Amino acid sequence: MKTYLNTINGQPVGSDKSFESINPATGEVLARAPISTQAQVSEAIAAARAAQPGWAARPDAERKALTMKIADVIKQNAPYLAEWVTREQGKPLGGVGPDQVPGARFELWGCEVWTQVPASLDLPVEVAFEDDTRRDEVYRKPYGVIAAIAPWNWPLLIAIWQIIPSIRAGNTVVLKPSEYTTIGTLELVRLISEVLPKGVVNTVSGPGEVGSWLVSDPGIDKIMFTGSGPTGKKIAEAAARNMVPTTMELGGNDAAIVLPDADPKAMAMGLFWGAFLNMGQTCACAKRLYVHESLFDQTVQALKEIAQAVPMGNGMDDGMVMGPIQNKMQFDKVVALVESAKQAGATIVCGGNPTGGPGYFYPLTLVTGLKDGARLVDEEQFGPVLPIIKYSSVDDAVASANRLDAGLGASVWSSDLEAARRVASRIQAGTVWINQHGMIHPMVPFGGIKGSGYGVEFGIDGLKAVTQPQVISMKK
Ligand code: NAD
Repeated sequence: MKTYLNTINGQPVGSDKSFESINPATGEVLARAPISTQAQVSEAIAAARAAQPGWAARPDAERKALTMKIADVIKQNAPYLAEWVTREQGKPLGGVGPDQVPGARFELWGCEVWTQVPASLDLPVEVAFEDDTRRDEVYRKPYGVIAAIAPWNWPLLIAIWQIIPSIRAGNTVVLKPSEYTTIGTLELVRLISEVLPKGVVNTVSGPGEVGSWLVSDPGIDKIMFTGSGPTGKKIAEAAARNMVPTTMELGGNDAAIVLPDADPKAMAMGLFWGAFLNMGQTCACAKRLYVHESLFDQTVQALKEIAQAVPMGNGMDDGMVMGPIQNKMQFDKVVALVESAKQAGATIVCGGNPTGGPGYFYPLTLVTGLKDGARLVDEEQFGPVLPIIKYSSVDDAVASANRLDAGLGASVWSSDLEAARRVASRIQAGTVWINQHGMIHPMVPFGGIKGSGYGVEFGIDGLKAVTQPQVISMKK
């Protein structure tokens, strides 16, 4: 069985120990990946550190051109990498482009776009103040070496969100992919490294412990983390010890609120994908749906019709739209939350029981009859289950949306954009979408508040987040 390798200083690097990559649709072992040693983590950081001054000193236009070249490499290798995403992560291959069902090919298309956009952005010198006596210029300098820790739900896309702005701004990177979806990412970095100077992007792999070595190392200048809240807290502690800044993209429990004047038929498809994108395994999926009592039955019915018509199966097979849950830990969590809802007397509108192996398949599940405080409402399910909660007053729905220690996204659905905007501004979340959910864009800053983290990615703000300001202040 093939063992795929890390890239450190432009070279393939293995390890004495390795682990299996499992296909969540079949349970088969796909290949093996190295468990990096602590010495290899140090080696990767040293390589990144050695490469950083030369990388930052290159003319901006050169870094821009090389970043654009990465987009070409991604495009050329998209069919190969998309197969890894499907086999390792589970999402079906699907189509390409913004109008397609978002599967693995869509993820690769996203990687290309989220490379081209930061590549095309500039951070010009800003004049913060000027009068007859002085001129204060603000320059944006790279931090140095960035540690990036990625999750398993959109493994390649999130790695790209971490790598590309970092290198565009003159940093170098050591990335650790999730132990559930390692190989696709190792292959992505191997391929993009071929067009970059040695040491600019490096990988290490293995369980959380390998990540903890990486983020605790004093050779790291900034940490970008996407993953769960509990891990985020451990990383924030490690960062505090070294006085290192972090970007924390943590879990969410996004509320979607359907106002009384919404049109259930018109919004149903948008709501459905807002909740079930990537089998619900998306940080900014709608995870609690609050529907006004006047529209409740129609909305539930419209969602049920869509959920029951969506083909689910091995994502390598043609025509599949939904795949398995990515791993056993997440599968067990979804099962436990749905069982807790049943015990609390909830109504299972559709789904609600695992379809049986092989693979971690769980049907798309709609649950009604729950109230705030139920586990399925209050805990992030991160899977193909949506609790739909009836409300009668908009004030109550807003209070429900705001009552949890999570604030990544939210959405408001209405036929009246101004009314929706007024409700949106009362919701505590980094992004509140209107008549759409989870519709991120490479030019628009994205990040959470409260327990969902801090800092933003994407656009100019995302690029600034991987730089530190330096003021040059001149007396006239
Ligand atoms: P996780 O926290 O279990 O793991 C994330 C990564 O952290 C993995 O690579 C893991 O190996 C590593 N890790 C574990 N312990 C570590 C430690 N002590 N030090 C350093 N690294 C360590 O999260 P997950 O299960 O992979 O991802 C699911 C979660 O991520 C969900 O809560 C989801 O909402 C969240 N998420 C958030 C966003 C966002 O942008 N806000 C995006 C995707 C996923």
